[in-house]
Amino acid sequence: MKRTGLRILAGAGALLALIVIVVITRTAMIDPPPVVLAALPSPLTPEATASAAEHLSTAIRLPTISWQRGMTGAKADASNKAFVDFREFITATYPIFSKTATREIVSDYSLLFTWQGSDPSLEPVLFMSHMDVVPVVPGTEADWKHDPFGGEIVDGVIWGRGAIDCKASLIALLEAANTLMAKGYTPKRTILFAFGHDEEVSGLTGNLKIAEMLKARGVKLAFVSDEGGMLTSGVVGGVENPVALIGIAEKGYMTLQLTTHAAGGHSSMPPTQGETAIGRLINAMDAVGNAPFKSGVDTPTRAMLDAIAPAMPYVNRMVFANMWLFEPIVVATMAKDQRIGAGLHTTIAPTMIKAGIKENVLPPEAEGIINFRLHQRDTIESATAHVRAAINDPEVEIATLEGARNASAVSNLDGEAFHLIRDSINTSFPDALVAPNLTVAATDSRHYLPLTDNVFRFVPLRLNASELAAFHATNERVPVASLTGAVGFYISIMQNIDDPKL
Ligand SMILES: [Zn+2]
Repeated sequence: MKRTGLRILAGAGALLALIVIVVITRTAMIDPPPVVLAALPSPLTPEATASAAEHLSTAIRLPTISWQRGMTGAKADASNKAFVDFREFITATYPIFSKTATREIVSDYSLLFTWQGSDPSLEPVLFMSHMDVVPVVPGTEADWKHDPFGGEIVDGVIWGRGAIDCKASLIALLEAANTLMAKGYTPKRTILFAFGHDEEVSGLTGNLKIAEMLKARGVKLAFVSDEGGMLTSGVVGGVENPVALIGIAEKGYMTLQLTTHAAGGHSSMPPTQGETAIGRLINAMDAVGNAPFKSGVDTPTRAMLDAIAPAMPYVNRMVFANMWLFEPIVVATMAKDQRIGAGLHTTIAPTMIKAGIKENVLPPEAEGIINFRLHQRDTIESATAHVRAAINDPEVEIATLEGARNASAVSNLDGEAFHLIRDSINTSFPDALVAPNLTVAATDSRHYLPLTDNVFRFVPLRLNASELAAFHATNERVPVASLTGAVGFYISIMQNIDDPKL
């Protein structure tokens, strides 16, 4: 007996030693990260830099605001005028581009430009951006250090609504194409540019219509480049290198409306809590909130962890190099973080609640709205079934609101299109780590999913955490150096798209 016990102990010790050796060896196998550069050489001349900055400044001064979908009246009219002005601004500012590329106006304001390549047998590529911006939240105007629609350039920074989202990339694309055209460059592969006017309100009249138009023409796209991740530093904990996040998939979207009914009546003689419309609704919403969806590390997140691991402190590196062992701990820790957790599971966000008309009247009906962002492992059907099971009350009506869609497919990480984007990032930003990830918000690129398997959501803007925090918020701004970096990136990628394997 004693000898058996010793043998088990020795066996366990050997196993533990083996695990330690594997863990340490796998950690040591990770390549070191590239050296962090204080500043990158500008890809543009000082004159080209100044004019690109000036062009973005002018673009910001045009108040192309997307208000609520379907809104009419003076504000909507002013935005519509700004979209027309924006279109004329492009014609006036980029004469070579405007002469070389053909323009189509879709749904009155969205723009599709075609830069015809010399080889029609190659599938076109599509670069996307959008002209519209979100409004400035009323009451926050005074918090802006510079006029949100002033386009001021102060100490090498361009200020204003839309600087990051998405006018910098739009201007960078135009600068890049115009520069190459001025040099007489013609791509073999056709390059399309889609600039939507309603991205911030779902893109249903802009990019959806452009996508339908291209589909009707039988167009297949080699790849689509749209907004999503950026080149950020100081955002991923413990990583000093800038990280270029490329969205290789996008979460789905679903909104459920829960409705409960009850007898109503005078509030002096109420039934028990669960039998009132409000009580029943609260119980249902609470049950959903307490039934989180499964969390896990799938392709986009795993690829991101692999990419950033080299630049992580030793302990994190050890953990990420040994996911075979540490995955349950990693998932549990990451899932607790609101921002990171959103990439690991379907999220549950109760956003609206409506019931009652008077303080002493029991309402006969109560209504709650929950918005879900669907992870790839869930579908509209499976997530609805999950919610129904969590509520477990047949008296609660569950309806799916318009606009539900499953998560996108995951783009191919082994294909030439991804390699091209990765290589262009490495060329333009040699100190960056290229990290695929999951885009948790919606982008207009989803409208093109029927036309390609390769959608990459990345804007080559180098931003720090504070600049990134101004996205859709107060004091939105972009450094001039980030704008020129983006121009350089697009010049590089546009010159390398002719590979027939794309
Ligand atoms: Zn955007």
